[in-house]
Amino acid sequence: MELLANAKINLTLDILRKREDGYHDLQMVMQAVTLADALTVTPAQGAEGQASSDLHFLPTGGKNLAQMAATAFRQATGLGGEVDVSIQKRVPVCAGLAGGSADAAAVLRAMNELTGAGLSPNQLAKIGERVGSDVPFCVLGGTALAEGRGELLTPLSPLPPCHIVICKPPFSISTPQLFSRVNVRKIVRRPDTAGVMAALDAGDLAGVARRMYNVFEDVLERRRFDQIAAIKAALIDCGALGASMSGSGPSVFGLFDDLDSAQAACERLRESYRDVFLCGPAGAQ
Ligand code: ATP
Repeated sequence: MELLANAKINLTLDILRKREDGYHDLQMVMQAVTLADALTVTPAQGAEGQASSDLHFLPTGGKNLAQMAATAFRQATGLGGEVDVSIQKRVPVCAGLAGGSADAAAVLRAMNELTGAGLSPNQLAKIGERVGSDVPFCVLGGTALAEGRGELLTPLSPLPPCHIVICKPPFSISTPQLFSRVNVRKIVRRPDTAGVMAALDAGDLAGVARRMYNVFEDVLERRRFDQIAAIKAALIDCGALGASMSGSGPSVFGLFDDLDSAQAACERLRESYRDVFLCGPAGAQ
């Protein structure tokens, strides 16, 4: 079975409080995008399923998120055998785009089809929680408010049609380190989450773009902050209606209503960066 695993961007990312269990309560408007890995899921050749990809550094066995999802599905339903998953990676890894979670979600959908289990998207999303907190959103797709650690989802009005330029600079940011630098009481700038949701309801792309923000941007190290700011500035210079960092970075995206401007932004960013993608919003699964 062949299927696509759509990446996500964060239109907003806010941190509301640190919980007693050490995790943070988040509030994020998430958007699935057409940038996607291509997966093939087949019955396993050997006794244990393998995950192969065009990236030599990704785990190939049970530690690959695709295989973790297959295991979670079997444990939750008692259905399905071992599967081999072949992944053509197009979504950059450790980029704040949930590429691994997207692969896991795609495998859950594939197992649901292949076994005829007939689980609803919400039931599949619940299984996905065992694999990672972004997996439930990747199962549902579309546009959603994600709360808690990211697993509590409320579907939102879809992002109006637009062009999305994503640029990943060539460094990675440690998510635990970012969280450790956040002092929730000292966050000065936050996204206008309610305003973004109202703009989505109104079909107002510029209104969404104007209100986007990611609180992690404030706690980046100076040299990282400067690079993220430079990419945002280039996107806005080329005509983006708004630009923000996605997840725990380092990917930055801009929303455009005009294709020529989005293509011009890609050309400009490709002069300095290898990982630049032009895509669009993806609807709910
Ligand atoms: P998020 O936006 O959820 O923080 P991310 O974009 O930062 O995600 P991913 O690319 O989803 O990060 O995953 C990164 C980690 O997961 C890497 O350490 C990688 O080795 C591991 N991993 C396991 N399986 C996969 C997979 N199928 N695709 C990508 N990474 C995987």
